[in-house]
Amino acid sequence: MKVRTNADTPEDARQAREFGAEGIGLCRTEHMFFEPDRIAAIREMIVSKTVEQREAALAKLLPMQRGDFEGIYEAMEGLPVTIRLLDPPLHEFLPHDGYDIANLAAEMHMEVTELKGIISGLHEFNPMMGHRGCRLDVTYPEIGAMQTRAIIEAAVNVQKAHPEWDIVPEIMIPLVGEVKELAYVKSIVTETADAIIAESGVDLKYLVGTMIEIPRAALTADEIAKEAEFFSFGTNDLTQMTFGFSRDDAGKFLDAYYDKKIYENDPFARLDVVGVGQLVKMAADLGRSTRPDIKLGICGEHGGDPSSIEFCQQVGLNYVSCSPFRVPIARLAAAQSALRNR
Ligand code: PEP
Ligand code: MG
Repeated sequence: MKVRTNADTPEDARQAREFGAEGIGLCRTEHMFFEPDRIAAIREMIVSKTVEQREAALAKLLPMQRGDFEGIYEAMEGLPVTIRLLDPPLHEFLPHDGYDIANLAAEMHMEVTELKGIISGLHEFNPMMGHRGCRLDVTYPEIGAMQTRAIIEAAVNVQKAHPEWDIVPEIMIPLVGEVKELAYVKSIVTETADAIIAESGVDLKYLVGTMIEIPRAALTADEIAKEAEFFSFGTNDLTQMTFGFSRDDAGKFLDAYYDKKIYENDPFARLDVVGVGQLVKMAADLGRSTRPDIKLGICGEHGGDPSSIEFCQQVGLNYVSCSPFRVPIARLAAAQSALRNR
């Protein structure tokens, strides 16, 4: 089993390499947007009223993302890198204090009251089950197009600079629950990528895959696999959606469950093999039934937990991915479990 790791920036990628990672299983692109010099452009993108405004803001983000991806590809020297399209609910990026709101309004040539109206319109009662993941690309395809452009242009540039490396971008579409939404977002990705590759003169291959993190995706994984060249199990979301409690709130009541011996472990730390694990196994089997060579991995926090890694080995996942500091323990656990299951 080939251990990867989760890394969101070129710095994370370098650190992961030092700890022995053999690729990146999850690069969360949104983490690049929180930098002070970038947040302004993403805010402009979110509050845009027209496609033209949104594209103008995305054009500012493009060189920043491309630069980060170049740094990541350089650090990984041709090892696999899975880059996830934007995932969180957009309002996470919005300003809340008056000073920032006034600045953004001035930048966007808007009245403060109008901007406040847009911000409150973005409010969601349950954002983790709201307008996020691939739903963002269904409503605003230009976001996925810009991110794909940044990924593919970076890969082309680094491939040209290092012909000895074999760079194969893996573009991951998050929060899919229905094969048709995956097919739609994938069409944005492939149209953009194919045009850039044709123009570049570089014979670049790339993969498009998805996360399995919604129970419906696991249940229909045979259909999903017809459109996905790889699955990465997002067991953080899959756990919260399967148990029906939020990873951000469960801490408040889980201690009572441990005291009363209802649960023995935190299911967000150790994979619940009895429930969530069955969805993982079922989806892996269903995925292989329609695409026998599908690449399978895990990128939730469980990817760094030894007992969860043992389970991943048993269901035949190809890699586990975790945060850089957990890579050494994950490598050891993967090696031990490979020996035990030989
Ligand atoms: C997951 O859901 O397991 C995952 C890796 O995504 P995130 O934690 O970023 O939602
Ligand atoms: Mg997730």
